[in-house]
Amino acid sequence: MPVLTFQNADGSLSEYAFSDAEPVLLRVRENGGARLGIGEGKPQAVITRAKVYQVPLVVNLSGDARVRVNGRRVVTLRVLRQGSRLQIGDLEMTFWEMTLQDVAAGSVLVGKRCPVCRLAYCAGDEVVVCPRCGVPHHKECWFEHEFCSNSGCLYPIRTTLKRLLAARSIVVEQLAANSQLVSQTMRCQAGTPGIDAQPFQAGQYVIYCPNRKCNAAFHLECWVSMGNCPACHKYDVSKLLRSVFTPNTPPYLGEEDAAAEEADA
Ligand SMILES: [Zn+2]
Ligand SMILES: [Zn+2]
Ligand SMILES: [Zn+2]
Ligand SMILES: [Zn+2]
Repeated sequence: MPVLTFQNADGSLSEYAFSDAEPVLLRVRENGGARLGIGEGKPQAVITRAKVYQVPLVVNLSGDARVRVNGRRVVTLRVLRQGSRLQIGDLEMTFWEMTLQDVAAGSVLVGKRCPVCRLAYCAGDEVVVCPRCGVPHHKECWFEHEFCSNSGCLYPIRTTLKRLLAARSIVVEQLAANSQLVSQTMRCQAGTPGIDAQPFQAGQYVIYCPNRKCNAAFHLECWVSMGNCPACHKYDVSKLLRSVFTPNTPPYLGEEDAAAEEADA
């Protein structure tokens, strides 16, 4: 799932998450400003994914010299890496992508520890690498928290996931005290030890099974670690997550290395 990060005038960061189902259109305004998304007229550039290997690309459709990656003009197209700086007009954005990957037997991750549970990674574990700070986490540990646990990073995990699922018409809601699930003391059917010992509580994030005939409610953090939905046994959650978090984004090179690579290209 690609995320564009903008630096606002006050230095704070805003995120723009989008799905791969539709390419992102980038337009430069006459006054030099720029904007994203659907609009009138022809866009200057588009972010899309290569058919082969699913690598993210920025394509310069108009040949406009104001479309740049890491400070260098994009003549036709360029592969986007984690942390690539994308400029269009005077709008500057950083490209990050939340990826989900299996730990392979000989992976450098084997033996390293998850910052949340402190357990070492084993072959076969599913790992999410934080798109902002690059620290890997177990999938379950990553989605347990609202923000990345690495100090100073604060990547917004829940809001990004929420926006992404909303793009697929899957609703995540934070339970109010008067919501039906709370007042009727309903329970999450995931059976996760700890959290599911009690009925739903106000303030918890809940998702409903996208299978319309099922619609069972689950805690968001229980749902992301499920295989098939335990209520209908039909909806394949892990398959959905795999389609959402593609693993083929080239790694972050750091500012200096990225500049050197662009110069060689
Ligand atoms: Zn963990
Ligand atoms: Zn992080
Ligand atoms: Zn639960
Ligand atoms: Zn279901």
